[in-house]
Amino acid sequence: NNRTFTMIKPDATQKGHTGGIIDMIIKAGFTIKAMKWTKLTKEQAGAFYEVHKERPFYGELVNFMSSGPIVAAVLEKENAVADFRKLIGATDPAKADEGTIRKLFAASVGENAVHGSDSDENAAIEGSFFFSGLELF
Ligand code: ATP
Repeated sequence: NNRTFTMIKPDATQKGHTGGIIDMIIKAGFTIKAMKWTKLTKEQAGAFYEVHKERPFYGELVNFMSSGPIVAAVLEKENAVADFRKLIGATDPAKADEGTIRKLFAASVGENAVHGSDSDENAAIEGSFFFSGLELF
């Protein structure tokens, strides 16, 4: 499959990194198929991250993800899921490679600037959480 889903997280939007991150995504060869600037309620953030609800950081994650604006987007490129995870770098920015989005813009493992889907299946599920079929082309 050739699509992935991303969010620019509240730490990055609030620090003014939205433009810089979108620029890196486009320069890495991804095409934006859909994009929106929005803000999640706690309930919506909880639903999006439902798969993590047994993890110890779930409450912190839901609070953080509903703490400010986010940008949600569907991206297209050959090998999109794997290539995008390479572009964003490791979950913990301290372990992220030089030149990755998290190395440049993330502060900590919790507030790590961006989300990237971990499989084609999850990319489709996550994209549908934010966008209707009519909003995608
Ligand atoms: P994402 O799904 O956002 O792309 P990921 O797949 O790299 O991130 P996961 O292990 O799936 O990482 O964790 C999902 C998100 O939960 C992380 O991006 C981060 O925001 C948060 N998170 C992960 N581990 C921790 C932790 N130890 N403490 C606080 N938050 C965490």
